[in-house]
Amino acid sequence: MNIKEALSVENAYMAGDYDVAVVGAGHAGCEAAAACANLGLRTVLFTLHLDSLANLPCNPSIGGTAKGQLVREIDALGGVMGKIADKCCIQMRMLNRSKGPAVYSPRAQMDRSRYSAAMKAYLETLENLDIRQAHITDLLTDGEDKLSVAGVLTESRAVYSAKAVVICSGTYMESRTIRGEVVCLTGPDGLPRSIGLSASLASAGIPILRFKTGTPVRVNSNKIDFTVMTRQDGETDVPPFSFDNEMNGIGVPQDQVPCWSVWTTPDTREIISSNMDRSPLYSGVITGIGPRYCPSIEDKFMRFKDKERHQIFVEPMGRETSEMYLQGFSTSLPEEIQIKMVHSLPGLDKAVIQRSAYAIEYDLVDPLSLLPTLESKIVTGLYTAGQINGSSGYEEAAAQGIIAGINAALKVKGEEQIVLDRSQAYIGVLIDDLVTKGTSEPYRMMTSRAEYRLFLRQDNADMRLTPIGKKAGLISEERYGRFLAKKESVEKETQRLRDTYIAPTDELKVILESVGTTLPPSGISLAELLKRPQVTYELIASVDKKREPLPIAVTKEVETDLKYEGYLKLEKEKIEKFSELERRLLPEDTDYEKISGLRLEARQKLNAVRPLNIGQASRISGVSPADISVLLVYTEMLKRKDKEE
Ligand SMILES: Cc1cc2nc3c(=O)[nH]c(=O)nc-3n(C[C@H](O)[C@H](O)[C@H](O)COP(=O)(O)OP(=O)(O)OC[C@H]3O[C@@H](n4cnc5c(N)ncnc54)[C@H](O)[C@@H]3O)c2cc1C
Repeated sequence: MNIKEALSVENAYMAGDYDVAVVGAGHAGCEAAAACANLGLRTVLFTLHLDSLANLPCNPSIGGTAKGQLVREIDALGGVMGKIADKCCIQMRMLNRSKGPAVYSPRAQMDRSRYSAAMKAYLETLENLDIRQAHITDLLTDGEDKLSVAGVLTESRAVYSAKAVVICSGTYMESRTIRGEVVCLTGPDGLPRSIGLSASLASAGIPILRFKTGTPVRVNSNKIDFTVMTRQDGETDVPPFSFDNEMNGIGVPQDQVPCWSVWTTPDTREIISSNMDRSPLYSGVITGIGPRYCPSIEDKFMRFKDKERHQIFVEPMGRETSEMYLQGFSTSLPEEIQIKMVHSLPGLDKAVIQRSAYAIEYDLVDPLSLLPTLESKIVTGLYTAGQINGSSGYEEAAAQGIIAGINAALKVKGEEQIVLDRSQAYIGVLIDDLVTKGTSEPYRMMTSRAEYRLFLRQDNADMRLTPIGKKAGLISEERYGRFLAKKESVEKETQRLRDTYIAPTDELKVILESVGTTLPPSGISLAELLKRPQVTYELIASVDKKREPLPIAVTKEVETDLKYEGYLKLEKEKIEKFSELERRLLPEDTDYEKISGLRLEARQKLNAVRPLNIGQASRISGVSPADISVLLVYTEMLKRKDKEE
C-alpha cells in the first residue's frame, strides 16, 4: 500500500510528514529516535503505550556479561542508555573480575519505573522529536520491482509520510502470552499487542519468523524471609556506564540496595517434574523458538539432569516498590503451579506473587534479509532494530537501535552509512552475526562470540568508537574535547612510564615482595614493572616520584594496555589479516551461480546473503575455505580487469 492508497481508506487522513518515523519506543526505538533527532532530522516516535516507553519487561537490570560492553559502546557513540542507566542505578557490580579486565562486564540493577520515566523525560526534551501513542498497522511503500518506504498507517487511520522508517517492535508483533493451557492475546506485561504490521511486512516480501521468550514471577518483599538467603551487595569502585559521567567525576550511587540468592529445593524439582504434562513447552502449545542461554526453570531441570539444584537471584525492582524479581526462575507453567514452585524456595514459603510468570511468542524479521547497515535488502529506506531482528536483551536492542537510527539519518542526508566490523566493537559482532549467519533462536551477546575481545574491553569503548560517533554527528565538540584530553593523557602517561626507570632499591624490594614478586636485578622501566600481574599502578605510587594526579579512567586504561601489550600486539596482527579480507569488496550485483568452482551450497547461500566483502562471505555457514579461495581469485581478476580498462 502506498500513501495514496492509504489515504483512500475510509476515515484516513494525512497526519504528518517526517524525515524518519520510528515504530516502537523500546530500547531499540528510543536509541534510534534520539539519534535521528540529535542528528537534526524531523523524527516521529510511535509506541503502543506511552507509559511503557523503555519498559524493562524482564530482568530489571542493564548490563552483564558482554551486555555491559554493549552499553559502554552505545554511550561512546553518543547514545542514551548509559546515561539513563547511571541515573536509575540502584546497585552496580563489575562481573568477571576473576577473569581479568579483558572481559570485565559492568551490570546494574535498575529502578524500573524510574528508568522508563527518565528516558521519556529525556526524549521529550529533544527539539526534532515528536512522540505519539499510536498503533502502526501498515508499512507504506512506493515502487513495484524494488520497493522503497513511503510512511506508515495507524489503526486510527492516520497516515504519516517519511523518507526512512525504523521498525523496533520488540516482542509485540502478533504476540501472545502463555501460562500452562491459558493463552492471552496481549503483549508483555498485559500491554496491547501489535496486530497487522508483520502481515504488512510479509506482503512487502520480508521473511517473518516466530520466536518465544519467557519471564519469571514478581513477588512482594514484605512476606519474604531474607534471613535464610545469601545477601549480595553492590560495589562502589565500578565506573559508571557513561564515559561523560566518568570524566565528570559522576560515580555510581553510594547507597546501593542488596540482591539476594537462594537455591531451588528437591520440592521445587518434584513440583515441576510432576507437572511437566501441563508445560506448554512440552505440550506443544508453544511453537515459537526460545533462548538457549535464558532457559526457563523447567527447561533447566529437564536439560541439566545432573544438577541437583539451581541458583535463583531475588532482585529489587526499585527504591519505592516492594516488588522483587526472581532471576533464573522464568516459567510458563500454570499459575497455580507457579505459586507452589515459589513457596518451595527457602524464605519464599509465604511470598505473595504480584505478577505471574509467562512465556511470550512474537513475530520477527529474518535478519538475513538485512544489510550490515540494518537497512532491509527488500525495501529501501526501511531499517529494523532490536528483538525484531532476532536478538534478545535490552542492550542488544539498544545497540542495534543507535546504528539503525544513525544510518537512517545518514541515508536521508545522502551521506555514507556506518558499519562497525567485528574488530571494532561488540556491536559489530552482534550485527554481523545476525545479518551474515542469521539466528534460529533469540540471540544473546556473549564475550565468547567476539574473536578480538582483548581489544573490545568495556573501559576502552570510547577510544574505539567516540571518533566514529563524532564523525556521524552525535558527539558534541565539548564532549569530544574531553575525550581528546583523556586520550592524550593516556598516551602521555603510558610514554612517561616507558621512559621512567627506577633502581632496584630496598624500598622497591619491600613493595614487590609484599605482593609476591621479586626485585629486578637492575634498573627497570615503570612500564615493564606494571606488566607483572601482581603489580598495579597504585602499588608503585611511592617509587614513582614524578607522578601527577590523573583520573582513574586514565590510569586504569594505561595499566590494562601495558599489562596486555604483548597479547594486544598478537591480536593486532590477527585483526590486520581479518581487515584485509573485509577490504576485499564483492560487487553488489555478483551472480554467484556464474562463478565456476563454487560449490552448489555456496552459490545458493552467497546469492541469498549477498555479502559486501570476502570477510563476510567467509562467515556464511555453508561457504567453505575452498569457496573463499575461488572468490579471492575472482576478485583478483576483477581488479586486473578494472586496471586494464
Ligand atoms: C516476557 C519477556 C521475557 C524476556 N526475557 C528476556 C531474557 O530473559 N533475557 C533478555 O536478554 N531479554 C529478555 N527479554 C527481552 C527484552 O525485553 C527485549 O530484548 C527488549 O525489551 C527488546 O527491546 P526492543 O526495543 O527490541 O523492543 P521492546 O522493548 O519490546 O519495545 C517494543 C516497542 O515497540 C512498540 N510497538 C510494537 N509494535 C508496535 C506497533 N505496531 N505500533 C506502535 N508501536 C509498536 C511497543 O509499544 C514498544 O514500545 C524478554 C522480554 C519479554 C517480553
